[in-house]
Amino acid sequence: MKNNFMKIKILLALSAIIFSVTAVVVAYNIFQDNKQYKKEATKASKNVQFIYDDAIEDVVHFYTARAMSNIKSYGILDSFKARDHDKLYALSLPRWETLREENPSLVVMQFHMPDGTSLLRMHQPDVYGDAIAAKRSMVANIHKNHKEIHGFEEGRQGLALRILIPIFERDVYVGTIEFGVLSPYISKKISRYLGYEAFFFIKQEKLGIFAPLNHSLAFGDFIAVDANAEQLPLLKAYKSEHSTLEKGILKFNNITFSISSLPILNYENQTIGAIMFAQSVLDLKAHLFDMIFYSFLITFILILFLWLITSRIYDAIAKKIKFEEMFSQSILNTISFPVLVTDGEHLLGANQKFLDYFGYKTIEGFMRDHKCVCDYFEEGDTNEYIMPMQNDKRWTEHIIHTPQLMHKAKITINKITTIFHVKLSHIELDNRNRFVVVFSDISSMQSISTIDQLTGVANRLHFTMVYEHTFKMAQREQKPLSIIFLDIDFFKKVNDVYGHLIGDSVLKQIANIAQNKIRKSDIIARWGGEEFVILLPNTSADEAYHIAESLRNIIELENFTTVEKMTCSFGVAMLHKDETAEELVKRVDALLYLAKESGRNKVIRE
Ligand code: GH3
Ligand code: MG
Ligand code: MG
Repeated sequence: MKNNFMKIKILLALSAIIFSVTAVVVAYNIFQDNKQYKKEATKASKNVQFIYDDAIEDVVHFYTARAMSNIKSYGILDSFKARDHDKLYALSLPRWETLREENPSLVVMQFHMPDGTSLLRMHQPDVYGDAIAAKRSMVANIHKNHKEIHGFEEGRQGLALRILIPIFERDVYVGTIEFGVLSPYISKKISRYLGYEAFFFIKQEKLGIFAPLNHSLAFGDFIAVDANAEQLPLLKAYKSEHSTLEKGILKFNNITFSISSLPILNYENQTIGAIMFAQSVLDLKAHLFDMIFYSFLITFILILFLWLITSRIYDAIAKKIKFEEMFSQSILNTISFPVLVTDGEHLLGANQKFLDYFGYKTIEGFMRDHKCVCDYFEEGDTNEYIMPMQNDKRWTEHIIHTPQLMHKAKITINKITTIFHVKLSHIELDNRNRFVVVFSDISSMQSISTIDQLTGVANRLHFTMVYEHTFKMAQREQKPLSIIFLDIDFFKKVNDVYGHLIGDSVLKQIANIAQNKIRKSDIIARWGGEEFVILLPNTSADEAYHIAESLRNIIELENFTTVEKMTCSFGVAMLHKDETAEELVKRVDALLYLAKESGRNKVIRE
């Protein structure tokens, strides 16, 4: 339960991180897109002006060149100067037809005489000789200034770009050629360059002799002049949302258009109309929606995927940790003394023996009642006993810093006081501390391992261990080593006559006498039953014999309770060179047997 809660917390944190990263990336992208969009929009409106100017310039250059080659062709200039209308018409006709073929929007090619009259209209050859300069200021202007001029001008056939080119012969102005190109030619050219749609509008006041127009497509003062059938629906759609030629965005046939317009100027730079551009642009809103939608969709899938993987990894790790915990707990539980694990401050774990000893079912239960196991520590009679704080240090720290000392803890549970030997092992990793503390019960340990319960002298196990060690030392250092075997005479009778308890007290009394008789460096142990062994390091056979003999004497003279008199038999031998430990014991045992055989209450030596 606790584990699952932790897992969900980790997964939520992970999701929140991924989600925040996505949000930041999306926000950054939106910001960048917006910037890019604005940049492109500015660039596009600049481009429109540039392309429009370029298109006009192209047309002007094109017809200026045509006019020049026209004048230079054979007979044209002469017939023009001679005012020969018919000849000029005949000579110009093939060229006019070629130009018309090239550009059907070319509707005017006209020759003007310097006196203001019109010599020839290729588009209307029958009308000539009229004083046209008086009616058309562009013509009057070029006659006066002799400089090329161009500009839009309204006319019977529509809104046309007029190009007037002066003709000179040896620097003398001889007249003007005029071309007129209808606006659709320009709009097509612009469309071709940029892929934009372009529409021409004329100012209402300039309508004049203009052919009837679709007045429903009026934007303020401006009325569309040449929108074809394909373009009309787009214009109508714009009209349904806007009443003037303002800048704007139009959604049409699932395409987003940016709409902008420029003024159309006549040769005197007066606005007589306008040109509108419809440029297809990236739909920023739809694009943003798509971007946000897909970003978060991918994020969602990613989170799902990570959730799955993390969850699996987490479960695997949790299982492994659980196994390791169970494993270390099982190790702790095999120890038959109370063991605890702490970080120096809090109790982190304990073995079953610990809980049993302190009378708790769980560690949590123990921790509810006690902050520290050291609550139990009592003062002892020596400074070996640890206290919760020692020399301003926690008890765990104190033990670590004084490894040379024997540390004891005195604890009383249910009126039973136990003295523990406290051993501590410490691990440290990345400033994390773990202390494993073992409380081994000193009294029980000693009774189990070294002391004979009844007599209080060493037991056979202890003797064996000490004998092994002493034997090796004696061999290495070439020092004498002797052994005495003691067996109580007719002990069975004591049991038979007085009972076991009296037998026990005799055993204790003899053990006591022997213990007091031997030197500090000697060790007496109960060999088994009513037999004792005395190990005498650095002792010759003679010395050992004297000790045995005086012991035999003391026991013989001793007044035992109830039983009164007891005697013992002894075997004494010293370690021979090249003799094994077992061989020596066997030899002494055999000598004891001899003492028994030869009448008892005797010491037999080798
Ligand atoms: P011997 O002079 O030949 O040694 O005769 P013994 O009777 O002393 O020897 P035996 O080996 O025949 O008997 C030893 C007896 O010691 C038998 C056993 O019941 C008794 N005994 C052994 N251990 C204890 C003990 O711890 N307490 C008591 N009360 N009797 C014990
Ligand atoms: Mg015996
Ligand atoms: Mg005996």
